[in-house]
Amino acid sequence: MSTSCPRCATLDLDIAIRTPGEFAKALRVIRANLTDGTLEAIPAGDEGARGSFSDLSEAGPWPDRVDCRFVCAGCGRRYRLRVERIRMPDAQQKAGLVVQVRHAFADVVYPGDDRLTDSFGDEPDALARDFRGRDDWTTLDADFLNQAPEGWGSALSFFSGHALRFYLPAYLVADLEGTLLIGDPTTRLCAFVTPIMEGKRVAKFYGGGTLGEHARRQFAVFDAAQVAVIVAYLWWKLDEAGYDPTVEQALENYWLPREADFGGHG
Ligand SMILES: [Zn+2]
Repeated sequence: MSTSCPRCATLDLDIAIRTPGEFAKALRVIRANLTDGTLEAIPAGDEGARGSFSDLSEAGPWPDRVDCRFVCAGCGRRYRLRVERIRMPDAQQKAGLVVQVRHAFADVVYPGDDRLTDSFGDEPDALARDFRGRDDWTTLDADFLNQAPEGWGSALSFFSGHALRFYLPAYLVADLEGTLLIGDPTTRLCAFVTPIMEGKRVAKFYGGGTLGEHARRQFAVFDAAQVAVIVAYLWWKLDEAGYDPTVEQALENYWLPREADFGGHG
């Protein structure tokens, strides 16, 4: 295998593309290198190249399979952009995910009446009253989840880490079944672990530190199976709801590395 030259040395990387955002970044980098003459595109049909790079816009939509080849104008080294999008039939995917959620969270124990929230104020107080003694999340129906606590519909924002782990599956199942109308689990799971938000300071009153540190501490209670199902849910959400930079960045920044720490194949 030939080695890179000074012109193309910065391109000599093996990068896994996991998300639409990472694919868009790769397109930008390659386009810049075509523009400045570092790379030349190998025409479709030559050397196994499929499709034409110039047909790929950064905004998409993209074909399910991309396989474009490039050559360095300086040294002749070949580069390749290869992506395959994995899709599942939606109904099958949803049914499978519901089963996966129920299984991954089956053994989580009710955290206790005094550990439902660590926040202060009207909504957390209402949460503590509304969820008190509700020690079987499988019995909570969508009508309850959509209004809890006491009509605010904001419980997901105020659960303690342990309460989140206990009640999250009820919300995920309702969302997958299309009955969750108020509240979005992705907000609680993603908003504070994006690069932009995670460094923001938390008031001393709430214990200081950063939003990211708080979220990571709360998410630390999720085990490998639970992290895997959260990642699968976020992929489904990204596909279902379309492009959502918060979900995508949270996957790249936190959930995929977290899954990889468990030896997953994210
Ligand atoms: Zn080169």
